[in-house]
Amino acid sequence: MSTVAYKCPNCASPLTFDGASGKMICGACDSQFDLAAVEAMYAAQTGGGIDFDVPDEGYNAADMAQMKAYRCKSCGAELITEGTTTATECPYCGSPTILPDRIEGGIRPELVVPFVISKEEAQKMFEDYFQGKKLLPNIFKKDNQIAEIRKLYVPYWLFDCDADATIVYSAEKRRTQRTDDWEIETIEHYIVNRSGTMSFENIPVDGSVKLDNKISESLEPYDLTKAVPFSPSVLSGSLADHADVDAADCEKRAVERVENSITTAIRNTVTGYTSVSERSKGFSSKGGKVTAVLLPVWLITTVKDGKTYTFAINGQTGKLTCDVPTDKGKAFLWGAGAFAGVMGVGALILYLLKQLAGGTMLIVGIVGLIVALCVVGGLIGQLKQAASQSSAAGYSREGGLQLSLKQDLFLYTKTNRKKIEKQEQA
Ligand SMILES: [Zn+2]
Ligand SMILES: [Zn+2]
Repeated sequence: MSTVAYKCPNCASPLTFDGASGKMICGACDSQFDLAAVEAMYAAQTGGGIDFDVPDEGYNAADMAQMKAYRCKSCGAELITEGTTTATECPYCGSPTILPDRIEGGIRPELVVPFVISKEEAQKMFEDYFQGKKLLPNIFKKDNQIAEIRKLYVPYWLFDCDADATIVYSAEKRRTQRTDDWEIETIEHYIVNRSGTMSFENIPVDGSVKLDNKISESLEPYDLTKAVPFSPSVLSGSLADHADVDAADCEKRAVERVENSITTAIRNTVTGYTSVSERSKGFSSKGGKVTAVLLPVWLITTVKDGKTYTFAINGQTGKLTCDVPTDKGKAFLWGAGAFAGVMGVGALILYLLKQLAGGTMLIVGIVGLIVALCVVGGLIGQLKQAASQSSAAGYSREGGLQLSLKQDLFLYTKTNRKKIEKQEQA
């Protein structure tokens, strides 16, 4: 018998091990439990956590000789480019006051994904964006002249790892039976134990403080199979942001996405219960590594009523995102219109069927509300607003989750009886 003080899951009294039956016994409430189930309940989930080997190789002397650096006096952006390229304005803020600077620090990118989308194509995508967007605020309706579309390589860190997780859940199966006088609720308690591995490849986290993470994550995914090895000449004619958020800081974001993905995948294997709650979990990882890359982005900023809005286009796939807000007044009118439409048609049909009554109109009202939410949701979707991604499931390798432990251990049954109150017969 170990020194861990196991407590009865039913009444919290101490449990003792009974050698004859091989069960854990509670002297207070006479329950017995399988040893394996009780041990699983108390298993502490440790594990080293998810971690990554971070690259530390900087630019070499040959790179430096072929490169130039600039600093924007207006927004502070640090930029690098190939030696014969002359930068005239800052790709982030458009300021012309960008001054030559020295290349200091920074990790040498390993790979660069080249631009596929041309400037003309990006311009057309930006112009087309303003067509048919019902919830676009009116300030964007007039005159969307843009000073310049700016070509920028954004530094990203790509995270790879094989992640392991062990999660223990408490789960219940409930069912209710009725006799003439009693309502009997039976609750079966289980301990559910799962371990699994999921491999992740190339989870991107942007290494630039200047670019909002919501924007960069909404530009995903990039096809890394088209990447070429970095050399200063690849940057010819365009600027690259000098990574100013280091890999260790970006790691948090990657760890979060890995943990969320594997937690969701494992939870999806726990089925057949009325309710499930997590008791404990632990993570570890193998082969965690980080690759520094430069990814292509077309950046467009437009100023409306003194506020700057950013549009970004994935330079490889043409995916567009932006931080344009929803026009709340228009959203309300569209929602109200859809609701009124359904109510009107519903009332007419019910009238023709001679069913116009409170109960049926309530159902029509609920349908109207659902239709209104769908209409507004669909119209908001048109705006392609930037949003963060909490998962990394899209970056898991072939096969997804591989379960290595799948244990559903019965603990005990609890029965609640309730006397059914009979209505007094008059
Ligand atoms: Zn007990
Ligand atoms: Zn700037």
